[in-house]
Amino acid sequence: MLILVLNCGSSSVKYQLYDMPGERCLEKGILERSGEGAVEAVIRTLKKRRGKIISSLDAIGHRVVHGGEKFKESTLINKEVIKAIKQYSRLAPLHNLPNLTGIHVCQRLFPGLSQVAVFDTAFHQTMPPYAYLYGLPYEVYKKEGIRRYGFHGTSHRYVSMQAAKVLGKPLKSLKIITCHLGNGCSITAVDRGESIDTSMGFTPLEGLVMGTRSGDIDAAAVLYLMKKRKLSVSGADELLNKRSGLLGLSGKSNDMRRILSSARSGNKRAKIALEVFIYRLQKYIGAYIAAMDGCDALIFTAGIGENAPYIKKKISQRLSLLIKKFKVRILTIPTNEELMIARDTYRLIK
Ligand code: ADP
Repeated sequence: MLILVLNCGSSSVKYQLYDMPGERCLEKGILERSGEGAVEAVIRTLKKRRGKIISSLDAIGHRVVHGGEKFKESTLINKEVIKAIKQYSRLAPLHNLPNLTGIHVCQRLFPGLSQVAVFDTAFHQTMPPYAYLYGLPYEVYKKEGIRRYGFHGTSHRYVSMQAAKVLGKPLKSLKIITCHLGNGCSITAVDRGESIDTSMGFTPLEGLVMGTRSGDIDAAAVLYLMKKRKLSVSGADELLNKRSGLLGLSGKSNDMRRILSSARSGNKRAKIALEVFIYRLQKYIGAYIAAMDGCDALIFTAGIGENAPYIKKKISQRLSLLIKKFKVRILTIPTNEELMIARDTYRLIK
């Protein structure tokens, strides 16, 4: 079966074409533009390159960022699903609206073709209330939906499944901690196949220090800054999401490669950025070992996780006692969210 995987984001459209169930990737690419025209351009390119194949597509799988509390797994797209995705765009306008555009364009260009939505938040819907609730008035959660949702779910799910394969044990018997360290970074405690806690929260801002995001911060510090510097809501948003993290701390770059090389050549600010990054990660790993009362495997994935052995080495040194005590296996597993989307799509239309 031929399955097209689309990730329509706020600044690009990424696509991959899969032959399933063999999991052969026939085409992949990225167009650094967004909106209806960009999705149409991707389809035109694919038609030019793979005319016959595209006219015999079996389904399209879409990455959708926010599935709120409604979507606990991937789902076939129908009117009701579209309505819910639209409703959740209030929580993630930068993401869900471009995702919806992708769905609408495909419905128009491929009328009647099955389409599937695979949500970043779905894997984390197994979190218990004590992990997803903030210490805010309960009615704020009930009325406004302010709670921790978690993101990168498709990646955490994929690498935890792969880890079980590598270890040759059923996922249901394992306690795994998955570290997705890319431009965005998040970490998840996967207890017997289920996400029981994850570091991103109401938005992808919470948790680890990232390329340009601050990660955890005292909300009162933001309020103070807004008052002191007369920052608007969007000014504060920009500060926390675009000018903080590795970039803000180092004053140099959001790119871990540059941080590592500057730190190596003695740059103080790059060194401190690296230290904050690693220390925050170390604390979260420790917390998740505590949350699961054990850990069989610690997985590193995404750009930094897959390519920066220095960070893994530091983590293993600093957590050496815990790692020894629990006999934690440390593995690097390349993520593949697109393949996971293709698998879900195949399973749902079969
Ligand atoms: P995205 O979240 O945008 O998909 P990636 O998973 O590609 O991002 O990760 C991007 C991050 O990976 C950047 O911080 C980049 O510096 C880092 N990275 C890529 N290659 C290396 C490397 N060889 N060593 C250290 N960091 C790397």
